[in-house]
Amino acid sequence: MTQSFCTELEERLVRYVQVETTSDEASSAVPSTASQLDLQRMLEGELRELGAQDVYLDQNGFLYATVPATVTGQKIPTVAFLAHVDTVAGIGDGPVKPRIHRNYDGSPITFPDDPLLVLMPEISPYLAHKIGHDIITASGRTLLGSDDKAGVAIIMTLTRYLLAHPELPHGEIRICFTPDEEIGTGIRKIDLQRLDASVAYTLDGGDLGEIVFETFSADKATVTITGVSTHPGKAKGKMVNALYLASRVTMTLPHAKLTPETTDDRQGFIHLYKVEGTAARFRAGAADRTWSPARVRVRHGSAHRAPGAHHLRDHAPIPQHALLARTGYAASRLRR
Ligand SMILES: [Zn+2]
Repeated sequence: MTQSFCTELEERLVRYVQVETTSDEASSAVPSTASQLDLQRMLEGELRELGAQDVYLDQNGFLYATVPATVTGQKIPTVAFLAHVDTVAGIGDGPVKPRIHRNYDGSPITFPDDPLLVLMPEISPYLAHKIGHDIITASGRTLLGSDDKAGVAIIMTLTRYLLAHPELPHGEIRICFTPDEEIGTGIRKIDLQRLDASVAYTLDGGDLGEIVFETFSADKATVTITGVSTHPGKAKGKMVNALYLASRVTMTLPHAKLTPETTDDRQGFIHLYKVEGTAARFRAGAADRTWSPARVRVRHGSAHRAPGAHHLRDHAPIPQHALLARTGYAASRLRR
């Protein structure tokens, strides 16, 4: 890659990650957070400035644009490039402060906002292949948000370059920046008629040169346990502590296998990703991913129920004295 591409990519990535765009799975708004529109409006303005055509930000927070074909008179498929602008919630808060580590020498990378955090090739072997490169990290208080602002920066750099070089032969190229990917709902609102592409690639990958052509299906379950709250001094025979019930329930989930850290490739897993609560009320969130077409078919039938929730509800014995407590769950589909 030429140095000019690297400089432009770096400048764009560093600028875009500083715009707050966390999505919110608890929100019913579309997009789930208004802050995602801040970046979409910034990109909308930049695309117009670059000379892109058909630049359009719709009411659902999707931004579309066109790089016109430079070859006419031939039937060339329209290719679309997509990236999502939101970042995942729950990992730190506050403004993202990107840091650039020039000409990485292989030594541990430390973080000013979290002295306990360290990044080094022994823990992250991929880093060993990046000696001599420039590495961009956050400051330790937040994630960087390169997922997927790296994809956004690459598509914007590509767009700028192709619009500046009409001598390069290509067909029509469509650009689409999407919201709410991290909460699994965003893509439902994409306007495929407006996108109008023969093929589409999402730039949201891991390793260099990797192309992913299939994906998992996922369900999500939220388990709520409502205990019985009384004054601790007069609690005998009355109090039901939701935290003790919850710890029993969560221990019935598979944790020595069928978890993200014990599976790879196409093995499915159940991922307990959030617990919060008090003695009076407790909530847990779990996601379930699978590659099995049979299980996907079952899930899309009328008898749909998340396997994680099934396991929780049917196999967690609730003690007799706790019958006063209420246990409920809500499952929703997170089809990707
Ligand atoms: Zn992503």
